[in-house]
Amino acid sequence: MTKTAKKIQMVDLKSQYEKIKIEVDAAIQNVLDNTAFINGPEVKSFQAELEQYLGVKHVIPCANGTDALQIAMMALDLKPGDEVITADFTYVATAEVIALLGLKPVLVDVVPNTFEIDVKAIEKAITPKTKAIVPVHLFGQCADMEAIMALAKKYNLYVIEDTAQAIGANFKYSDGRSKKAGTIGTIGCTSFFPSKNLGCYGDGGAIFTNDDTLAAKIRIIANHGQSVQYVHDSIGVNSRLDSIQAAVLRIKLRDLDTYAAARNKAANFYDQAFANHPKLKTPARAKFSDHVFHQYTLQLIGVDRNALREFLAGKEIPAMIYYPIPLHLQKAYLDPRYKAGDFPITEKLCDTVVSLPMHTELDEETLNYITDTVLEFFNK
Ligand SMILES: *Cc1c(COP(=O)(O)O)cnc(C)c1O
Repeated sequence: MTKTAKKIQMVDLKSQYEKIKIEVDAAIQNVLDNTAFINGPEVKSFQAELEQYLGVKHVIPCANGTDALQIAMMALDLKPGDEVITADFTYVATAEVIALLGLKPVLVDVVPNTFEIDVKAIEKAITPKTKAIVPVHLFGQCADMEAIMALAKKYNLYVIEDTAQAIGANFKYSDGRSKKAGTIGTIGCTSFFPSKNLGCYGDGGAIFTNDDTLAAKIRIIANHGQSVQYVHDSIGVNSRLDSIQAAVLRIKLRDLDTYAAARNKAANFYDQAFANHPKLKTPARAKFSDHVFHQYTLQLIGVDRNALREFLAGKEIPAMIYYPIPLHLQKAYLDPRYKAGDFPITEKLCDTVVSLPMHTELDEETLNYITDTVLEFFNK
């Protein structure tokens, strides 16, 4: 085993950029030449191309994924005190906007094998005040949307999909149909943060819906609540996707499926190397979703995680913990309704998960080096 020539990163945006540099540089120069920095033709073209790729009626670009979630909740007219159910094991943004809008985040546990929100736990958490469910398609595969949509129908709830980590993933229905992540619920929200699967070169986000009325409302809210310039019918926010970012995204959207394939190839390599290892549990594939591997996350069984990370760091291999603290134990979200032990799966995952480098540019030499080094840790 030898160290690789290239520095190993969790996400290698530089090598990816080098492959599309000519197109990207020209597209950015084109925006500079036209100076249509806001709502220029690149934004409209990107919107139309993403609508077509996803098979969704409306894509409304916005400034970032957190805004997308906030605008979605504003568009549904949720009122202070309304309860919104989401996963305890997620990035903070999901719960943050619920709390910011004065809504009540209701947390539920996830299932141990796929890390996705536990549908049975959702049903148990529903009360007369529940208005919406926010499933998070964590790490690149979908939550069980067929079951979640059935619950939403039964209890008359909205569904806001947080697909910041799973853009491009297909949800597979039991009857064989499939739909793209983010196009199944009432509204879908995504992020184009640089390290996401469809990342731009700054901040960006988008909201998806098939509902014409909601789409019109979302556009108005994202634009200061104005339908006609200087006429404000509702309180809105200022949330736009820059033309430069849209120009970059148009190029990367063409490669999104190729990127997902490269991520899957790396994931399969990891899977094979760690298969049947007594101390490593490789990530499970849900039968109802394909996986776009935003993260490749192992569960450690009786392993000193810090020692593993230090060992890997010593060999210049980064490894990250997504996420180290469950939402219900975060200081900002402490709530007398919840205490340690309430969400045992999430709590266990926070203590035992570790994510390995995952991106579109991992070659076999690098993967060999990473997997050999991980295995070496256990044999040393
Ligand atoms: C990244 C992310 C967000 C927030 O997106 P930003 O563009 O960073 O605001 C929301 N939810 C999840 C699950 C994410 O991974």
